[in-house]
Amino acid sequence: MASGTQERVETDDSRPTVSLNQTEKSRPEAALDELIAGNRRFTSGRTSSHRRDLALLQQMMEKPEPFAAVLSCADSRVPVEVVFDQTIGQLFVTRVAGNMVTVEIMASLEYAAAVLGTHTILVMGHSRCGAVTAAIQAAQNAQAVPGQISALFPHLEPAVKQAGPDVDATVRANVLLQVARLRESPLLAGMIEGGKLLIAAGYFDLSSGAVTLLDQPQV
Ligand SMILES: [Zn+2]
Repeated sequence: MASGTQERVETDDSRPTVSLNQTEKSRPEAALDELIAGNRRFTSGRTSSHRRDLALLQQMMEKPEPFAAVLSCADSRVPVEVVFDQTIGQLFVTRVAGNMVTVEIMASLEYAAAVLGTHTILVMGHSRCGAVTAAIQAAQNAQAVPGQISALFPHLEPAVKQAGPDVDATVRANVLLQVARLRESPLLAGMIEGGKLLIAAGYFDLSSGAVTLLDQPQV
């Protein structure tokens, strides 16, 4: 069968969708470029990251080498590998409702950068974010929410104060505030200063599927 032949060809290629060579991998901007290029493949319906099988996973048993790290919301409409057209082993992904930097998220991203050698971290918010909407509502009417959901709100409060009650503006403000939090890490700040790390701010539009980069205040 023709499809069987095609599968065999794909299996011979160890990393079919990563175009970054070793030199490019050490350039933080190259990783960001590949993320954006992958997102353009996604929005244009020309995805190339179709191989997601056990054999590919098994090729990475020795050492993971993700070319970028992403902090995104846990929202089911933000499947990170899918929207950046990437497959197994390419992205180090941390997700939490509201894409906020908790102590554990900070530790995870420090691990990605300092131990795994990931040269780019993208913090990405998205339109219609339920966590941000809930934090805005909590600030407005202080109604109780079930369980421990309210534990999210203190992390989002600075953005709500800065840009609320507009959800979209608050999402964008929150991304920039979380980027600023990451920059407070002496470990990450040292890597940025040494030209080994780039931290970018992104916004994912659910209706278009497009990720746009947000301008960050000069530091
Ligand atoms: Zn969200």
